[in-house]
Amino acid sequence: MKDCIERILISEEELQQKVKELGEKITQDYQGKEIRVIGILRGAFIFMADLIRNIHVPLSVDFMSISSYGDEIESNGIVRILKDLDKPITRKHVLIVEDIVDTGLTLKHLREVLSTREPASVRICALLNKEERRVVKDLKIDYLGFNIPNYFVVGYGLDFAERYRNYPFIFVLKPEYYQGRASA
Ligand code: 5GP
Repeated sequence: MKDCIERILISEEELQQKVKELGEKITQDYQGKEIRVIGILRGAFIFMADLIRNIHVPLSVDFMSISSYGDEIESNGIVRILKDLDKPITRKHVLIVEDIVDTGLTLKHLREVLSTREPASVRICALLNKEERRVVKDLKIDYLGFNIPNYFVVGYGLDFAERYRNYPFIFVLKPEYYQGRASA
């Protein structure tokens, strides 16, 4: 299985440390409030599961699924809601949890859609950010884990063609694995 790893970018220990720090910051910022944590499926589910165990204010969770690139690795700029929230967010303090911000189109669209539903507030927490790929210039990421260079990364919930989500660290896939010449 390990043959597919070109390079480990963020280790399991670094991830756990950062998630703890993010949880502490969020806990401080939301004192006296209750959060509706919204996970963006499927890439954010592992990060979100770890994150909420480090947030110590009352919270509830919900999930949304947005059209991804399918088995491609480039965004086509079209963002579609595949699964909407189960519960209304009116007057709720919404915290969107996303795996990675690339062009920023997904979160820009999502923030706009959720803001029309009259939440008390909307903030964004993202584990990874590829600043040099950003198309949306005014996207504010309120809580960010790591800035990374422009590599296609997998692991810790992030996939390529639905694989590699189960690795506990973030890594760069060997090119032959996403060019279809090998699989693991
Ligand atoms: P954006 O709309 O910001 O361009 O794209 C965000 C989405 O693209 C992420 O939620 C993720 O699904 C996907 N994505 C962007 N970069 C990567 C990457 O390096 N690895 C993986 N696995 N997904 C990525």
